[in-house]
Amino acid sequence: MLRLRNELTRQVEEVPVRDGTVRMYSCGPTVYKPSHIGNMRTYLLPDLIARTLRTHGLKVHRLMNITDVGHMTDELSEAGRDKMLLAADDEGLTTAGIAEKYTRAFFDHTDALNIVRADLYPKATDHIPQIIELARKLVERGHAYEVEGSIYYDVTTFPAYGALSGQSLDAMRAAHRMDEADPRKRNHQDFVLWVHAGPRRELVYDSPWGKGYPGWHIECSAMSLTHLGERFEIHTGGIDNRFPHHEDEIAQSEGAVGHPVVDMWVYGEHLLMSSAKMAKSTGNVVTVGTLIDRGYDPLAFRYLCFNGRYRRQVDFTEDALESAATTLRRLRERVAMLGPVASDVTNDDAKHHHARFMDAIDDDLDLPAAVKVLHEALSDEAVPPSERASLARTWDEILGLDLAPSTSLDDELEGLIAEREEARRSKDFARADAIRDRLRDAGVELLDSSTGTTWVKR
Ligand SMILES: [Zn+2]
Repeated sequence: MLRLRNELTRQVEEVPVRDGTVRMYSCGPTVYKPSHIGNMRTYLLPDLIARTLRTHGLKVHRLMNITDVGHMTDELSEAGRDKMLLAADDEGLTTAGIAEKYTRAFFDHTDALNIVRADLYPKATDHIPQIIELARKLVERGHAYEVEGSIYYDVTTFPAYGALSGQSLDAMRAAHRMDEADPRKRNHQDFVLWVHAGPRRELVYDSPWGKGYPGWHIECSAMSLTHLGERFEIHTGGIDNRFPHHEDEIAQSEGAVGHPVVDMWVYGEHLLMSSAKMAKSTGNVVTVGTLIDRGYDPLAFRYLCFNGRYRRQVDFTEDALESAATTLRRLRERVAMLGPVASDVTNDDAKHHHARFMDAIDDDLDLPAAVKVLHEALSDEAVPPSERASLARTWDEILGLDLAPSTSLDDELEGLIAEREEARRSKDFARADAIRDRLRDAGVELLDSSTGTTWVKR
């Protein structure tokens, strides 16, 4: 069974299961600009978790939120501006237009990386009533207070505040810059649940406290409680989300329901871009679109991510990507050359490889070790080729690298391959080569061997 590092307990623990199901919430994109590949690495984490759990025969119910309101440029003070509104200004689109544009880009990019879609992608703007109800409940239970139409969470009413990120309230106070303090807050660390809207603000909603809009943190509490219930198993995010975003989510959700909600908090580390954190703010932005424009298979980036475990920083360089692309191409060729896939694995060595592969995955997603097993197994002559092919196909359910594409070619391409076979038989090599080139242009590479010709998709 899969074991993961739980940030709450600082231990590697077996994933809890209830009724054969694992419920998982993952913090998703704020759709005001394209997600960069560092974000993509973060979204890969719940994909790998879900794929592994499904391999273990479990049901997985996955949610990822789409933030389309309330993510401010500065979360700690109220001087920040809503990123959606800034982007709308910049691009001359409505906020809905911005959200639609970058939501589509988000799906294009995650699809290209074989990140299996979540069951649900709830949007913050579709959950305003639930957000208001949650804020109301927190006021009623004495965790939150109103000042001039804004609602703040009083962190001193929630003793566990800071437990996830391992900080005391005093340490947080020291980390805040005093001159940015909002004078309306009771405590320096209090955070906003609902923001009173000034006269010029767009994206405004009616509430019991007048016109306003939600803070960023509350949407994840509202949407997880609505769709996953008061108790669920896994919450993932990027390491940046741990504080304040998730510290605040715990205070909100547990403050409202009065008991623990999430069993396990799992975090993905940063992708480093030439040893600098690849954040949007550095201007050092590479997207999946950039990779495709430069002629890379997006899955080469997925393979590159397997160079390190999710809890370690991984370096992104063009060299590393080039090397990942080459290795992935060779892996696919090797799998294609193995020929037909055995329906069953009966060979003892093959079974041994499979056990080692799953042990590596189950050990807190040790992808580097799992990939090493893949390379060893593919070249293990003691295992019949058809069973090696079968292992590759099975493991690809988790790896998601299209190692053995199960899709067949369209009729036209199949026809060309048959035509080339005919040309080769009649020793018309010029024609055979011309057809090979045409297929290559169509993204299909032919591999000739003593047993015949196979193909692999580029
Ligand atoms: Zn979140």
